[in-house]
Amino acid sequence: MSNKVKRFILPEEEIPHYWYNIQAEMPNKPLPPIHPATKQPLKPEDLFPIFAEELCRQELNQTDPWIEIPEEVREMYKYYRSTPLVRAYGLEQALGTPAHIYFKNESVSPMGSHKLNSAIPQAYYCKKEGVTNVTTETGAGQWGAALSYAARLFGLEAAVYQVKISYEQKPYRRSIMQTYGAQVTPSPSMSTRAGKNILTKDPFHQGSLGTAISEAIELATTTPNCKYTLGSVLSHVSLHQTVIGLEAEKQMKMAGEYPDVVIACFGGGSNFSGIAFPFMRHTINEGKKTRFIAAEPNSCPKLTRGKFEYDFGDEAGYTPLLPMYTLGHNFRPANIHAGGLRYHGAGVIISQLLKDGFMKAVDIPQLETFEAGTLFARAEGIIPAPESSHAIAATIREALKCKETGEEKVILFNLSGHGLIDMAAYDQYIAGNLQNYSISDEELAASMKDADALNQ
Ligand SMILES: *Cc1c(COP(=O)(O)O)cnc(C)c1O
Repeated sequence: MSNKVKRFILPEEEIPHYWYNIQAEMPNKPLPPIHPATKQPLKPEDLFPIFAEELCRQELNQTDPWIEIPEEVREMYKYYRSTPLVRAYGLEQALGTPAHIYFKNESVSPMGSHKLNSAIPQAYYCKKEGVTNVTTETGAGQWGAALSYAARLFGLEAAVYQVKISYEQKPYRRSIMQTYGAQVTPSPSMSTRAGKNILTKDPFHQGSLGTAISEAIELATTTPNCKYTLGSVLSHVSLHQTVIGLEAEKQMKMAGEYPDVVIACFGGGSNFSGIAFPFMRHTINEGKKTRFIAAEPNSCPKLTRGKFEYDFGDEAGYTPLLPMYTLGHNFRPANIHAGGLRYHGAGVIISQLLKDGFMKAVDIPQLETFEAGTLFARAEGIIPAPESSHAIAATIREALKCKETGEEKVILFNLSGHGLIDMAAYDQYIAGNLQNYSISDEELAASMKDADALNQ
């Protein structure tokens, strides 16, 4: 195979000039987000106090399929894009499968993940609208790191609320954020009213994305020239991530193939949307038969076992009500190592597409993801992020099916990030100290109670 091309890269001028807005072409549009106080469908203006205005318009844009990438953002993309599309000959060989496996390698960004693709435009629009400070929440720290760097690029100050337990257990991502100059505060903290309330009730609260979101939103709404940003779930984040799939489409053409199956891991849906939507437009518009598979943790199964209904995006109930597959906004996911996949909801676009049968979801136990990640590392040399290993595990399942049937299917998956800052998790796996977590129907029903009540 020495004369076969293994890696496809685009010249600079081929980096996309537009993001793809699938909302404009969906046969059934997502239901509208609802204002929790007025119970009316949300208008872009309702979001202006929280997010940059252009991002609010993108969020609710159901008419324009193509949205121009600002020149300043494209210039920043050029520092690490295009990311390579790689033919995984090593993995194919290790599995003995006739399938052709490709992966899009988003781990080559300076952050080691896809998150920068949206952090850059979010910081850019804030800067352009006269904002001086940005704030956000982060769990394990991938999004916080990306936003901290993007803020630096555009001369903004960044304040990041990091879930307290991660702040203490994952010191390296905290130092990454601080290296870029961000101010990092463990949440819950005494710096906001929301934080004080939580700590008064429970001085030893470990924090959650819910507490951190509440504190970041409060800071944004009480500080002049300060906006909040979010790294996943929202439709404008999915929009920015389509740069992944638009590049992959051109790179698959260079390889002379078109995917039969497209796979990505699923936390809030941004990297899945990014790789899938540009290919899904050919399914919607031309009836192509590609299958799209989202891989989620067995312990946080919103797509495979959640309910489609209106729910809050955060634990405190500060966000609009979103029509989505959810496990309930006070769902407490098990402490798995794929921190980026521990979120209770799925975002409005994905939820509608899943409901309408354009995509499928699979749930994967933690140990299977680490087996898959280790096999991939040995075959391809890259140690994948525990999140990305969910996509690899789903890819391996598909490739082994091809081995049984002898089908030469073309499988494309997104490698959302590398795992070099997650070696503590690999350590535990190697030592045999990791376990699977699953949840019972009773536990699920209990965590759905508050969300169910919102829909009566
Ligand atoms: C944050 C993150 C995810 C999960 O987020 P999505 O919005 O679902 O893409 C997956 N992989 C990596 C490496 C991440 O950092």
